[in-house]
Amino acid sequence: MMIPTIPTPDELLDKGFSRGKKQADLMRTQKIPKHLKGKRIEERRVITSCQVIKDKLKSILDSVPDIEDLPPFYQDYIDITVGVDDMKQALGGLNWAYGILTQLEKEYGSKIRKNPSEKATTLQKQAYGRIASVVNKIKKDLDFLDFAKANLRNMPTIDFDATTIVIAGFPNVGKSTLLNQISGADPQIANYPFTTKGIQIGHVERHWKSIQIIDTPGLLDRPVLEMNDIELNAIVALEHLADAILFIFDASETCGFGLESQYNLLKQIEKIFDNIPVIYLFNKMDLIEDTSYVEQYVDELDNSIFISAIEGEGIDKINKVLDSVKKIERNEEEEY
Ligand code: GDP
Repeated sequence: MMIPTIPTPDELLDKGFSRGKKQADLMRTQKIPKHLKGKRIEERRVITSCQVIKDKLKSILDSVPDIEDLPPFYQDYIDITVGVDDMKQALGGLNWAYGILTQLEKEYGSKIRKNPSEKATTLQKQAYGRIASVVNKIKKDLDFLDFAKANLRNMPTIDFDATTIVIAGFPNVGKSTLLNQISGADPQIANYPFTTKGIQIGHVERHWKSIQIIDTPGLLDRPVLEMNDIELNAIVALEHLADAILFIFDASETCGFGLESQYNLLKQIEKIFDNIPVIYLFNKMDLIEDTSYVEQYVDELDNSIFISAIEGEGIDKINKVLDSVKKIERNEEEEY
């Protein structure tokens, strides 16, 4: 979503009125019967001002798609980031101003035409007063859209046809090392609420299937129980995308978290991503000689894979499992 630069009410009015003046000045040099000239000039001034302001409002309105038409992930994203209701209200304000300006343009155009030229300047001043009042009334809406523009820039670009894998696990367990190993070294980095380094999205093409792997540093790497509602919503937005979760344990515990707490985090994440399959990875196996301590956790889980992300050990096994992940068919009626 590329929202254009949002003007202040003063900037909008300056732009409209100065263009109105320019057009009016141009008319002064034209040959027009004397008794009509004054009205023609003022009519042009008012209509031009309205149109210039309306054009700017329209370019802003056109830059924002209908929120209901967006995929649920983006609806949630906008809601978490700036608030969907506030966004709708601000756009509604601009629409309202657009409508009123259309009325004023007609009303004063016709009034100036129908009255004698001596009255034209008075009517033009009246029109300008009303235009200014309308534009000043949408100050809060323009302010909001300026805030939304700043916050909605660099939204993640999601491939909705790809099979999507979401990575989870405590900090320093090797999530970004693994993302780079599987999908190559330059993931897309975009803004995402409550992430420390932004969301990272890597892509892999496998057997005619596109796979998209998402890491959310700062979000899916800490106890869910400590999160507030908005943070939880930031996770819920990912539920619209995830076809599988890749949960990474640091078997060596060198990340600073014991396997016990890593296991607890897994259980919390499984609860949130209810019904979404989880692939369990035990990373940093290169640091471990005796695996018996790890085995007791492995026994609790089906199909864990032992890997060393840094050495590329076990990546082929992960790829095989990723090939078998099925894209979850979401109920489009309900979701879109
Ligand atoms: P993230 O915070 O979960 O994304 O973790 P990183 O990918 O940044 O890795 C944290 C640290 O662990 C880095 O110093 C990595 O080099 C190291 N690391 C990651 N995978 C492995 C591994 O398989 N073996 C070893 N020995 N170190 C690893």
